Amino acid sequence: MISFLDLRKINALYAEELKEAAAKVIDSGWYLLGEQVKRFEANLASYIGADHAIGVGNGLDALRLILRGYIELGIMQEGDEVIVPANTYIATILAITDNGLKPVLVEPDSTTYNLDISLVERHLTSRTRAIMVVHLYGRVCWSEELTRLAEKHGLKIIEDNAQAIGAAWHGRKTGALGDAAGFSFYPGKNLGALGDSGAVTTNDQELAEVVRALGNYGSRVKYYNDFKGLNSRLDEIQAAFLDVKLKYIDAENQRRREIARYYNEHISSPGVVLPATDAETPFVDYQEHVWHLYVIRSSRRDALVRHLQDNGIQVLIHYPVPPHQQRAYQELGAQSLALTEALSREVLSLPVSPVMEDHEVREVCACINSFR
Ligand SMILES: *Cc1c(COP(=O)(O)O)cnc(C)c1O
Repeated sequence: MISFLDLRKINALYAEELKEAAAKVIDSGWYLLGEQVKRFEANLASYIGADHAIGVGNGLDALRLILRGYIELGIMQEGDEVIVPANTYIATILAITDNGLKPVLVEPDSTTYNLDISLVERHLTSRTRAIMVVHLYGRVCWSEELTRLAEKHGLKIIEDNAQAIGAAWHGRKTGALGDAAGFSFYPGKNLGALGDSGAVTTNDQELAEVVRALGNYGSRVKYYNDFKGLNSRLDEIQAAFLDVKLKYIDAENQRRREIARYYNEHISSPGVVLPATDAETPFVDYQEHVWHLYVIRSSRRDALVRHLQDNGIQVLIHYPVPPHQQRAYQELGAQSLALTEALSREVLSLPVSPVMEDHEVREVCACINSFR
C-alpha cells in the first residue's frame, strides 16, 4: 500500500525533538501566549521575510482575522467585494462570507489552475476592496500585472498561503508578496502541526496589532476590549512543535520537488495532463512551487482513480465540488464557471510527501502508465 501522506512517518523523523519540545511546555506550566509562540512567530517572520507574524488557531481564522482587521481599520465594510479564485478550497470563501463580504469568483488559468490574473480587471466594481490570491497546490500565483492592478485600483492583496509555505517568486517568499497572508499548519500541510494552528504575516504594523488583538477577544490589554474579537490563538505546544519542524521545511519541500520532477519525467499516459512547469528553469531549483499537491488531469478520472486504488495506491481529489456548487453556497450557484467545474470532474492528486521512497514513486508512475 502506498499511502497518500503518511503523517506518522513524517513526524517520526523528528520524534525525539518533538517529544523534548512537548516535555518542555508541559513542565513549564505556561500553555498560551508565552515564549514558544513568541519564538516561533519571530522565526516564521524571519523565514518568510515579513515584518510581523501572528500565531492564530487555524488557517481559516488567519484569513478571517485579516479581513476583520481591515474592517476594523475602516478599509473595508460589510457588502464590499473580494476577488477570489473559483477553484479553491472552501475555507478561502468562508473567510470572506463570514465577514459579511462578497466573494467574486474568477476562473482559473488553464495551465496553472490558479487564479487567471488577466480576468481580474473585468470583475472589478466600485465595491471591490481586495484580491485574495490562493497559491493552490503549492504553486505561486503572482505577477507584476497583479500588483499594478492592485495599485491602480487601490486594492489590498491578501495571500491564502495555506498550501505554499516555502514557495518563492523571484526570490521573495509567498506570505511576503501581498499586503497580508494567511497560513495553515493543519497536520497535512507542508508545515504541519500536531493539531490545528495557523498564522498571519504582514508588513503592515497597524494591521498586525489589530489582528493580534482580534484573535485574543479584541483585547490589547487584559480585560480591556477594543474590538468584538474572537478566541483564536496558537497553543504553546503547537508553536514548540512548529518551531522544530520549520528547520526542515526547505529540505522537505526539495524532496517534494524531486518527486514531482520524477513524475513529470516518467508519467506518460495518453489523456493524462501533468502539471505545467517553467521550461526555462531547472525543475528542482524551480522555487515557484512547493508541491503540496501533485495534481494531474484526466477525462477518465474516475476510472484512473479505481485503477490506482486497485493497485494499492492511495489518491485524493482536490476538490470534487467547487465552492459555488456546494449546498452551503446556493447563492453563488447560479453562475457558470466552466473550467472550475471541469477541473472538479477531472483532477486527481498523486501521493507526494517528504517520506515517500524512490521505489514508491516509480511504482506510481508504472501504475499510471499501465492504465488503458
Ligand atoms: C487548509 C486550507 C485552508 C484552511 O486552513 P485550516 O487550518 O484547515 O483552517 C485555507 N485555504 C486553503 C487553500 C487550504 O488548503
